[in-house]
Amino acid sequence: MPVFVERASADRDSRVNPVLESALPRITPPPPIDSDKYEVIIAGSGPAGLMLSVCLAHYGIQSVLTVDKRPSTLKAGQADGIQPRTIEVLQSLDLAHEMLTQGCLLHEVAFWNPKTGGKGIERTAFVADVAVPSRYPHELTIHQGRIERILFQDLEKYGKKVQRGTDVVGFELKEDDKEWPVEVTLRDEQGDRKVRTKFLVGCDGAHSTVRKAMGLELEGDTTDHVWGVMDAVITSTFPDIRKRCAIHSSEGSIMIIPRERIPGGKVLTRVYCQMSSLENASKAESKAARNAITLERLTTQTAKALAPYTFSFSDVDWWAAYQIGQRTASAFSLADSNGVKRVHIAGDACHTHSPKAGQGMNVSMMDTYNLSFKLAHVLNGLAPPEILDTYESERLDIARQLIEFDTKFSSMFSGRIGEDSGLTHDEFVSVFRTGGGFTSGCGIEYGPGMLVDPQADVVKDGNRSLGLLWPGRRLMNVRTIRFADANPRNLQDDFASTGVYRILLMLPRSWRDQMNMQQVIQKYTSSIPDQFPRGAMETAIMYPGERGDIEWTDFPEAVRERNEWLLLGDAYGEAYTTFGVNEEVGAVAVVRPDGYVGMVGRVEETARVRAWLGGVLNAIPDGPQ
Ligand SMILES: Cc1cc2nc3c(=O)[nH]c(=O)nc-3n(C[C@H](O)[C@H](O)[C@H](O)COP(=O)(O)OP(=O)(O)OC[C@H]3O[C@@H](n4cnc5c(N)ncnc54)[C@H](O)[C@@H]3O)c2cc1C
Repeated sequence: MPVFVERASADRDSRVNPVLESALPRITPPPPIDSDKYEVIIAGSGPAGLMLSVCLAHYGIQSVLTVDKRPSTLKAGQADGIQPRTIEVLQSLDLAHEMLTQGCLLHEVAFWNPKTGGKGIERTAFVADVAVPSRYPHELTIHQGRIERILFQDLEKYGKKVQRGTDVVGFELKEDDKEWPVEVTLRDEQGDRKVRTKFLVGCDGAHSTVRKAMGLELEGDTTDHVWGVMDAVITSTFPDIRKRCAIHSSEGSIMIIPRERIPGGKVLTRVYCQMSSLENASKAESKAARNAITLERLTTQTAKALAPYTFSFSDVDWWAAYQIGQRTASAFSLADSNGVKRVHIAGDACHTHSPKAGQGMNVSMMDTYNLSFKLAHVLNGLAPPEILDTYESERLDIARQLIEFDTKFSSMFSGRIGEDSGLTHDEFVSVFRTGGGFTSGCGIEYGPGMLVDPQADVVKDGNRSLGLLWPGRRLMNVRTIRFADANPRNLQDDFASTGVYRILLMLPRSWRDQMNMQQVIQKYTSSIPDQFPRGAMETAIMYPGERGDIEWTDFPEAVRERNEWLLLGDAYGEAYTTFGVNEEVGAVAVVRPDGYVGMVGRVEETARVRAWLGGVLNAIPDGPQ
């Protein structure tokens, strides 16, 4: 055995466990270690609350209390579908692996309709489940409880836990203490206790206590359609049982969602089945209709609608009866007397809708993903508190679009297809297809505001839904080759969710011949970042085509010193084409910490980029100009 003389740096902990590495810079003093004061209190640890807890942990926010009245993570039922944009976000947090390898990937949807001129049903189309470009061109299904467990285990890596069996029973804004103005009342088996926080986030579901204490209600309607849903092992002669299916039969509608394998090797399937339609029912009548649904009625109805194919089941994991309702709160945030948004609601606490478009859990997690970097930046003194206003302006708009889509989609799905109903198969498929940009999460576009530059015509020759570099749209994934080590990279992996802004400089083809380009690169690489707290932003530089004869010496020294890992070649020819950037002129973009494009400019517009960043990040006082 060889004999070594070993010497290692004394502090190796963060090498062994990178989560210990300091994340975002902090300008403000560290918070006190005090069991009665937390910088953020999160009510609820469903998908929305866990996503927020995980993101804050990744960004290095230590003083966070997450409470949940439930004793454990969800064991059965509720949501199961993860949309492509959510997978991208989970991947950016390094959380997608188990879901991708063990979940069920849905690439295709089968549409079935009443058989023309006969009894039973017939397949009328196969349609791609995800029609918009995405790094993950499919939906993914896996049980919500498992998703919660994955998020929860990630939280544990950061030494964090959810305080279970603890209920948020109310809050008051008490501005006697300007720094900790929110007093939250917690209740557990020991009784009530009051704690102070800078920010309270209600991720406490549809019956949200936080929302009610803000004086808000969910506004909207409940439809008259009653549905049943079950997760079970299904045996059937139906040929598409392992595909997502939208079935309109003369006996009512069904949706089939293939699911993951369960221990023992059997495979789960979720079945949504239309049970009854009421007319102008009162609350009591609606409740009675839901209560009247039994597992036997649900399975008998499913068998009828699937006929002539056989249907039997075993291993029922969960079943429920529900009525579709679309509701949203009129506001998502509450300000203190200084106008600082101190209390927020997210997820089901501020919007509910039908589950069949697979949106609930996704939109809930994306709400808090949007909020998390804004809270972290304000707490660390990196951004002005007005940045928190953009949570409501961006996410309320998305919630309204969701309600609009869901109302249309679910009423069409609950309706009959055929000559007498006025609804055609083509109309239904068309709503499914055109809604795909929204439902996949990939077509979401935040409107102009503090974090989305209104000047959106710098790069314009292309289709926004195909990945055009456009303020308010997420940065689409493209493959590149890293200059330093010739490694193939996915751009979204280089733009992971670490809480920082990124300048993406896409050089023009003739960058080495242009006199001013060295100075421009220098500005984006060091002069501009140096005006902000170190570590609050990074710069990625991309050149068109392959490396060819490019050498490190072609760049200012700062590129190698600071961006060795972020010098990328568009060797696959994907980036400039997808982003709609003309290789002859190039472009520059600033990408927000949540992966959405904040602004797009011409390469030489260094002053505009600096000014935009100055609006969203606090510059170092008396720092270099
Ligand atoms: C019966 C049912 C079936 C569903 N089926 C589907 C589906 O098939 N597909 C789909 O996409 N979506 C479905 N959904 C919706 C999906 O589950 C939700 O959209 C998603 O869970 C929302 O996440 P959330 O974190 O906002 O809220 P929730 O998941 O509801 O989590 C809220 C958490 O807050 C806790 N809590 C509540 N009040 C307090 C309090 N005062 N103090 C402390 N903790 C509190 C709760 O215990 C819970 O853990 C279903 C929902 C339900 C209820």
